[in-house]
Amino acid sequence: MNADATPSFEIREHSAPVPASERTGRIADPGFGKVFTDHMAIVRYTEGKGWHDAHIQAREPLSMDPAAAVLHYAQEIFEGLKAYRLADGGTALFRPEQNARRFQQSAARLAMPQLPESLFLESIEKLVDIDREWIPGAEGAALYLRPFMFASEVFLGVRPAHEYLYMVIASSVGAYFKGGAKAISIWVSDDYTRAAPGGTGAAKCGGNYAASLVAQAEAIRQGCDQVVFLDAAEHRWVEELGGMNLFFVMEDGSVLTPPLKGTILPGITRDSILTLTRDEGISVREEAYSIDQWREDAASGKLVETFACGTAAVVTPVGTVKSSAGDFQIGSGGTGQITQRMRDRLVAIQRGEAPDPHGWVKRLF
Ligand SMILES: *Cc1c(COP(=O)(O)O)cnc(C)c1O
Repeated sequence: MNADATPSFEIREHSAPVPASERTGRIADPGFGKVFTDHMAIVRYTEGKGWHDAHIQAREPLSMDPAAAVLHYAQEIFEGLKAYRLADGGTALFRPEQNARRFQQSAARLAMPQLPESLFLESIEKLVDIDREWIPGAEGAALYLRPFMFASEVFLGVRPAHEYLYMVIASSVGAYFKGGAKAISIWVSDDYTRAAPGGTGAAKCGGNYAASLVAQAEAIRQGCDQVVFLDAAEHRWVEELGGMNLFFVMEDGSVLTPPLKGTILPGITRDSILTLTRDEGISVREEAYSIDQWREDAASGKLVETFACGTAAVVTPVGTVKSSAGDFQIGSGGTGQITQRMRDRLVAIQRGEAPDPHGWVKRLF
């Protein structure tokens, strides 16, 4: 096989999948990221040989050499998307080609080989197909898919690895934040930043998350749900949460979100909301917004809503912002009108309950 050939997936079915009655119990109230399906997808990459050995197999622990490069230099990237149950009983993905492209961009930034879009999509479709019984039916529930890739080469030298493993696992999930669309509180981190210019902020890599955890722990200690990061250079501009993008809604109905300049993760939910707001004729700006302005606008009433968005938590209102300089409330501290409308519109499209003018929904079966 030459390096450009696209291998097709071999299906090796699990010989002893979880019995149906047991599975039903596990997916009834699955929480987030705790319940996993029977299978996983794997594709290997070796320099010179290219992508090969694409298959679906029983989900099982990996056996890894302790000198595998990822364990030392964190050459790892991932994606996150959901398979949704449609209103008519079918199943669909939401803009999966966007995840495939972002995965390639993350790979480029981490000096990793780029997985062809067709292989990315096939790995997901085959896994959802074989594990379709694991898609929960409850409202807000879905099958969360986690494609990821890491340097598996056994080598301690510092250079891009020559061997990688690409995998997809799937998890039956309920709502990300317990209590559904209840407003969250966020902590403004003084001591830590998530991403610096020229760094990996725009890539979906595990290292960004590792670097965000002390700040997230600090937020929890401060009684908050999430941390909000400011820019690294001036420590003034609001960027995003540890894993969600932010939107601000003004009193005049206009909407603002920080621009993508390499330090913010280009969220697919962010992009979808930009499109949906423009569709509605709402004025939307991608513009830097400072923490001081945010505080001032919240106090004066010029800013009426703030929401966070991402695949896992969809659209989540921000009710309170806490910081060392004092706390402030957004609007009434609950769910604002635009926040609710954007959440409802997005969910309706994802569930096949509303027209899909942009062709975002990819029906699988
Ligand atoms: C994944 C992620 C998001 C949200 O992206 P979606 O494509 O909307 O799920 C936002 N910020 C960070 C840091 C992320 O890793």
